[in-house]
Amino acid sequence: MAIITCARCGVRTRPGRRCPSCSVFLCGTCARKGVCPADGQVLQKPKKLWVFLLGLGLAFVGFSLFAFSFDWQSYERASIPTTPIAALAPGTTVKLNGTIEAATMVVIDLQGSGDNHYWVLTPFRLGDASGSISVDVTDVQGSTSFWVIERGRHNDDWWVGDAASIIGRVASFPNGTRYVVANFIARTPVGFAGSGLASIFFASTAAVAGIPGAAGFVRARRNVALHERNSGAYRGKVEHWRSCGECGELLGLGTGICPSCNAPQRQPSRAIESLPTLRFVTAFRLLSRSERVAALTFTFVLPPILTGVFLWIAYMIGLARSLQPVLLLLPISAIVFPLVFGPRFLAPQRITLGPHEIDSGRAMRHESVLAREVDRVLTIRKGVREVHFLITRGDLSLGFGPGLTPADFEASRTWIRNLAGALGVRYQENLSFTEAISFMSRRVS
Ligand SMILES: [Zn+2]
Ligand SMILES: [Zn+2]
Ligand SMILES: [Zn+2]
Repeated sequence: MAIITCARCGVRTRPGRRCPSCSVFLCGTCARKGVCPADGQVLQKPKKLWVFLLGLGLAFVGFSLFAFSFDWQSYERASIPTTPIAALAPGTTVKLNGTIEAATMVVIDLQGSGDNHYWVLTPFRLGDASGSISVDVTDVQGSTSFWVIERGRHNDDWWVGDAASIIGRVASFPNGTRYVVANFIARTPVGFAGSGLASIFFASTAAVAGIPGAAGFVRARRNVALHERNSGAYRGKVEHWRSCGECGELLGLGTGICPSCNAPQRQPSRAIESLPTLRFVTAFRLLSRSERVAALTFTFVLPPILTGVFLWIAYMIGLARSLQPVLLLLPISAIVFPLVFGPRFLAPQRITLGPHEIDSGRAMRHESVLAREVDRVLTIRKGVREVHFLITRGDLSLGFGPGLTPADFEASRTWIRNLAGALGVRYQENLSFTEAISFMSRRVS
């Protein structure tokens, strides 16, 4: 997501609260009172629903393309012309239309119940005005699909004397007698067409979610462009202010007591420029045992298992019926897990602590915060595991710690303690996770 600078105080932040009349975004600190400091307009809250709608819409575009390809194939099957049985040439694929001839009454039987149905066929003959031919049913025997065999007239079953249309390949016995290997069976020559309902359902869901989602995306892009154009002329600018170390209120430099929370303000103990630049790289072997196990499990163990489970289900119930959103989560997770967890844990994290910028790079992901914008400095401890967090008043944050050698971790602790001193903010060491959450959200305990 784009990083912008607050129209009022210039801190780097993400698009959030927005003044509709000034057409600019303000950072969390400048938006604290819920109104625009320049003109008193009530600020708009960030709208994020479009991200979800756009994602859903795109997923359903995929589903509808898939369903459409099925419908298109069935439409093409429906448009094949029929061939009279007397005119069949071996080796060709044809569509026949006639009547079932057999010695038994039930020729095609739908067995099983609910979602576990499958077709059981007895070999039969098909006759039309020009002659009759025997039908080899091995290719469709046991099929679970109504795309392959349409439901029959007799409580789904097919009886002798029923009209049937067959698409199949013409073959011949050694003695020259021809037969047809059935691939699709329908009630009428045009019965091979699917209803198209799946395509229509998926496409309309894609439209219902995707259109507002895309509109939200366009609006968000346009708002960022407007912000960039209007920020320079924003009439409520403040410069060289700092935030209260306790409550985050924006204060003029040199303010002794925060008017908002009454906390005395610390003065910087040293110049920020005097901080050295340190560089660290994490190593996988230095992660805790549980992190290493989790990383390897999500990257290398789970994906083949999830893929295997999906293929097994697809084999059991048929590929077409396994293509439903809930089941598709299996192969999707098998792709997403290693992409998310692999770089997150396996790639080394490169951390640069500098007096101007603090920066973390890992695989394709690069984050940085400006040292002078940091207003919360904390270390979270859980057992032997510790993580440093730096948060700016624009609510950008950066964390590091796991994977560093103990010596590097202590060197970085000294560095961020000196950063806190230079900024005049309190370094919160040894916070528990709950304490950290409350501190990060600036609730004074
Ligand atoms: Zn601001
Ligand atoms: Zn305004
Ligand atoms: Zn305060």
